[in-house]
Amino acid sequence: MPRDPSRLFANSLLGLSLYCATIVGVQPAAASGATVSIVIDDLGNSIRDGRRVIALPAPVALAILPHTAYGATLADEAYHANKEILLHLPMDPEDGMAADPGPGRIENQMSAHEIAAMFSYDLQTVPHVIGVNNHMGSRITRNSAAMSALMSALRQHGKLFFLDSRTSPQSVAARVGADNDVAVLERDVFLDHEAGEENVMQSIQRVERLLATRSRVIVIGHPYPETLAALERWLPTLAARGTRVVPLSVMLNDLKVKRPNDYADRPASPRSGL
Ligand SMILES: [Zn+2]
Repeated sequence: MPRDPSRLFANSLLGLSLYCATIVGVQPAAASGATVSIVIDDLGNSIRDGRRVIALPAPVALAILPHTAYGATLADEAYHANKEILLHLPMDPEDGMAADPGPGRIENQMSAHEIAAMFSYDLQTVPHVIGVNNHMGSRITRNSAAMSALMSALRQHGKLFFLDSRTSPQSVAARVGADNDVAVLERDVFLDHEAGEENVMQSIQRVERLLATRSRVIVIGHPYPETLAALERWLPTLAARGTRVVPLSVMLNDLKVKRPNDYADRPASPRSGL
């Protein structure tokens, strides 16, 4: 069914107003000193979307696709606005998925040498990168040989870290990263695995519930109008409830001593197969 953007936006603002008015009273208080890191994926094709992400009132990271029209420009602008930049690396999804990861993708049948060369080629198109996360990649992230080649390339390019979007529950990224001395973070919640204002608000509530029981949560969203509108409303409310939004690099340092509970209650991936 086609979506009516103006109606969606109006509904979104109304819903968010109601939501933000109620969360303060209804949601449990966050654990003391709770921190959340937020990444917006799939950037680089729209200058307007990218600039709206840069303008968000918190240190939200931009995950920028390689070989895009505005990727380098947005990375420069984000860097000067003190926002962190990830390379959003296109990687093969499961067989049979209609989705195309786009140019510069890491393919399942590539040799280790080809993976390193493609990664290097992709990285040249996005400046200021401090880490990498997977665009799709459900097939590659469970392929130990391919992930080992990729992690080795990350290490050789200045100790980049890997943020696993967890598009596959069988992802081996954490284990292979540890074997290759590459730090790996993992996504806890997708804000908008299904488009639409209601889904975004439910995801924000899930983040709030997680923050009540543990201290660190990593969130990924996409530059949909309803997602960005939700973040513009929600981010300024967090500090009053004891939650800090921290850059991924700070989250990474905090997680260097990983506690077993940090990933124990991860919701099942809603994006399996991509
Ligand atoms: Zn993506």
